[in-house]
Amino acid sequence: MDMSDDKIVEVYSADDLMDAEHIRRVLAEEGIIAKVVGASLHGIIGDLPAQLATPRLWVHEEDFARGRQIIELVKQEQRERSQTRSPWKCVSCGEENSADFEICWSCQIVDETQD
Ligand SMILES: [Zn+2]
Repeated sequence: MDMSDDKIVEVYSADDLMDAEHIRRVLAEEGIIAKVVGASLHGIIGDLPAQLATPRLWVHEEDFARGRQIIELVKQEQRERSQTRSPWKCVSCGEENSADFEICWSCQIVDETQD
């Protein structure tokens, strides 16, 4: 693959460098090569508009559609995890359930103590 002839497009604008690196690794696991762009400008060129210093991910144009899908899934999972749930005890069988579970893993009773 000749890199110089490939179209490179921005697939994601990250919250920060950690976010950008995380997404880059997820994409790599899916076989998509992404390049983190802009992160190195952090703290070096203070006069740039903020969005230019925001880490962004660039991918080959052919990977854009699938890349977006993967990123959307990752973001959705992150949102769901960040919802303020906490571990809970089933009122029916008394088993401890982790915050991820909305239904008791043991007896399938729905957690009614939250939401
Ligand atoms: Zn239960």
